[in-house]
Formats: sequence, structure tokens, C-alpha cells
Amino acid sequence: MSSIKRSPWISFANMGGCNGCTLECFACFNPRYDVTRFGMELKASAKHADVLLVTGIVNKQNIKRLLKIYSQLPEPKRVVAVGACAVTGGLYKGSYSQAGPLDNVMPVSVYVPGCPPRPESIIDGIRKCLNDKGSR
Ligand code: SF4
Repeated sequence: MSSIKRSPWISFANMGGCNGCTLECFACFNPRYDVTRFGMELKASAKHADVLLVTGIVNKQNIKRLLKIYSQLPEPKRVVAVGACAVTGGLYKGSYSQAGPLDNVMPVSVYVPGCPPRPESIIDGIRKCLNDKGSR
């Protein structure tokens, strides 16, 4: 396994929360932040992605869907936890329905804290993730 030496394809799983992190992830792909200039492309399916961004809160209801998405991610699997909800549980930490934080349910390559993190932080998280060898 090695770091990615080509344009990385990015997929995205929104597990809920307030959606603030989701909006910041999508902002990375708008003309202002324009990660496409670095060769990053947003893919609808994790099956075609090098990196999976996960936002929001992993709970007992959505965990099955998230694990299915993770299983579709090609190896080596690289996951970025975006935002406090994914990183620690955030506002929902200790909630009766919580199954997270994200690293409770899958290996995480990079953590991007914040509520929500700014697009610059998310882009930096993706950049760091590209050097990660990922998990199998
Ligand atoms: S970390 Fe904050 S901004 Fe992001 S989904 Fe959770 S509550 Fe919303």
C-alpha cells in the first residue's frame, strides 16, 4: 500500500447532526474553494472513491447504512471524520441513541475537529489523508 499519487476521488456520507458540516464539505467543491483545481472529484458512490468524508452523528439507526457504505469503499480504505459530531460525538455525546463517535465503528485516517470545521480545514484533512496508507 502507498500514498495516493494521482487525483483523489472523494465520496461523502452524511450521518445527520445539524448538517453544518455537510454544507462546509460541499463548500470545498464550490468555485470559491475549488478543490477540483487539485484534481479532487466528488463521486456519488463510495465504490468509486479513494477517500470517504463522514459527517454527523453515528447512531443506532444509521450505523448499518454507514457500515454498508464503508464496505463499498475500495481498499486501502481512507476515512476522514469531519466535525465534532463524527470526531467525539459533539453535542450528541452521551445520547441514548448514539453508536459513535466514528472511530468506535471504523478506522479513521484523519480527524477534522470543529463545529463545523471550515473548508480550509477539511481540505487540509483530505490532503493529510492522501499520505495515509489506509486500512484493510
Ligand atoms: S459538528 Fe456541529 S456543525 Fe457539524 S453536524 Fe455536528 S452540530 Fe452540526
